[in-house]
Amino acid sequence: MSKRLAIGIDIGATTIKGGIVDVLDGRILFQKKVETLALQGPNSVLRQLNFLIKELMFENKYGEFSGIGVGAPGIVEIGGGVVKNPPNFSDWNEINVGEILFKEFRLPVLIENDANVAALGEAKYGAGINFKDFLFVIWGTGVGGGIILDGKIFRGPSGGAGEIGHTTIDYNGPVCNCGNRGCIESYIGQRYLSERTREKLMRLANPYKDSKILQLVNGKLELIEPAIISLAAAQGDEFAKNILLEAANLLGISLASILNILDLRVVIIGGGISESGEYVINQIQQSLRSRVLKSIKNDAIVIKAKLGNNAGILGAASLVMEL
Ligand SMILES: [Zn+2]
Repeated sequence: MSKRLAIGIDIGATTIKGGIVDVLDGRILFQKKVETLALQGPNSVLRQLNFLIKELMFENKYGEFSGIGVGAPGIVEIGGGVVKNPPNFSDWNEINVGEILFKEFRLPVLIENDANVAALGEAKYGAGINFKDFLFVIWGTGVGGGIILDGKIFRGPSGGAGEIGHTTIDYNGPVCNCGNRGCIESYIGQRYLSERTREKLMRLANPYKDSKILQLVNGKLELIEPAIISLAAAQGDEFAKNILLEAANLLGISLASILNILDLRVVIIGGGISESGEYVINQIQQSLRSRVLKSIKNDAIVIKAKLGNNAGILGAASLVMEL
């Protein structure tokens, strides 16, 4: 019974979410979130993290914690607690978050990259529960992911595996924020997809007349983002629906290569844009099946993630089961 309870922490660029988790059945017994204050520097972030964990401990009436699991953005050193260069965090190079938390709370601390943690959450408690091997994709601000092989995270020799957003789909394509050209993220990541939609709208003969997207943002092009496109599509706007179908098609192309390389059959998709509707998931599957090798083709499936925003907390907490 001692390994039943853990604290799961999901550090994001805007909020830090935390929960008291029953790791045996994947239930979040209590949860709370705080602002990350990522732009105020590492000390502010660490203070927020500390405060959140104290709050969770204060609220705990369920038993003893066996450890603290943390999902963090950026590169997380394998087997250590160092978090390196999380994107969108000011002045943060390398900080040993694991050591800091251990000193404060005297509990085992396990830290893992946030996408890997979400993949693990789906593997243990979500859409991946019946699959030993799958590719997990988060399609939201960027395109990230994690690889689950034999029920475990595949980290690669230095912990960087699963960077599917930077799979090249066109060597002459647009410049991506990684510096390369034609990465899948440079087509369908939040900022890029929004930009492409704006450009396409402006090319329409009379964009302001019929576009549901423009109605939803009151004509303010700068407010266009995937959630708006998705909402317009849900309200029957064909233009918006086609934008998402095209994006899903491109994602399928990049995923086909990964399935071929790893001999995988299952893709689980999470992240905001994956919530747009079944038609998007189906389009990814169709695109992927049209490109994977024959040996994989008929078995290749794309399914929606189940845990939504809780994948991070649950996956992070489940790390303590490795103790
Ligand atoms: Zn890239």
